[in-house]
Amino acid sequence: MADVELVGVGKVFGAQAVLHAIDLAISDGEFIVIVGPSGCGKSTLLRLIAGLDQPSAGDIRIEGRSALDATPAERGVAMVFQSYALYPHLNVRDNMAFGLRMAKTPEVEVRAAVEAAARLLGIESLLDHRPRALSGGQRQRVAIGRAIVRKPRLFLLDEPLSNLDAGLRVHMRHEFSRLHRELATTLIYVTHDQIEAMTLASRIVVLNAGRVEQIGTPMEIYEAPRNLFVASFMGSPR
Ligand code: ADP
Ligand code: MG
Repeated sequence: MADVELVGVGKVFGAQAVLHAIDLAISDGEFIVIVGPSGCGKSTLLRLIAGLDQPSAGDIRIEGRSALDATPAERGVAMVFQSYALYPHLNVRDNMAFGLRMAKTPEVEVRAAVEAAARLLGIESLLDHRPRALSGGQRQRVAIGRAIVRKPRLFLLDEPLSNLDAGLRVHMRHEFSRLHRELATTLIYVTHDQIEAMTLASRIVVLNAGRVEQIGTPMEIYEAPRNLFVASFMGSPR
């Protein structure tokens, strides 16, 4: 597990400021959901925390130390992308093993980690299949499996349910709550879906046009939205 602190984090692409002085303190083991409309900067924020891109201003601290010079692996981060980004030519076992093999993990340990993750996710019977033979929900589990075999201290998920149908989304929401408990990891989950945010989060971060509008528990956000944007976006009656 890891605590994460963003201090005055800004991001500029060319002439466009996408994130403005974001301050955010996340404790060990939290389930943080970042919610906001399309284009508000959610994926950019996640990529900065992961170390896939650098902020234009401010600092990102993981476990009390600045992480700006650290690679994603050194940050102890694993990220699941909206598109899942599985390797089409590799079967499920090799997709899940890929990162561990890149890190030169001994093959016995790779096998054990892949099989344990497959059991946890209920995909043991799919290990020899290629991604194209899988359903959307199965692919999503493989993408999660590939991330958790590396035992991340910090687990980042970018709209992981957006490609799934409504029934499967409800089912997978329960799975994420269970995974969070069983993995004992700090989880940062991005969505544009208010219901996902309300049901999953220990705390919600409401983002709009690159600024944090409010941070609070689902109850706080629902009962005391700080402004009109939060009230209307989160669908409270006010
Ligand atoms: P969200 O995930 O909330 O939909 P993004 O973080 O993907 O939003 O994008 C926020 C804004 O930043 C958008 O206007 C997008 O076009 C812009 N943007 C994101 N990544 C890049 C990039 N690599 N280069 C230029 N502009 C980008
Ligand atoms: Mg996005």
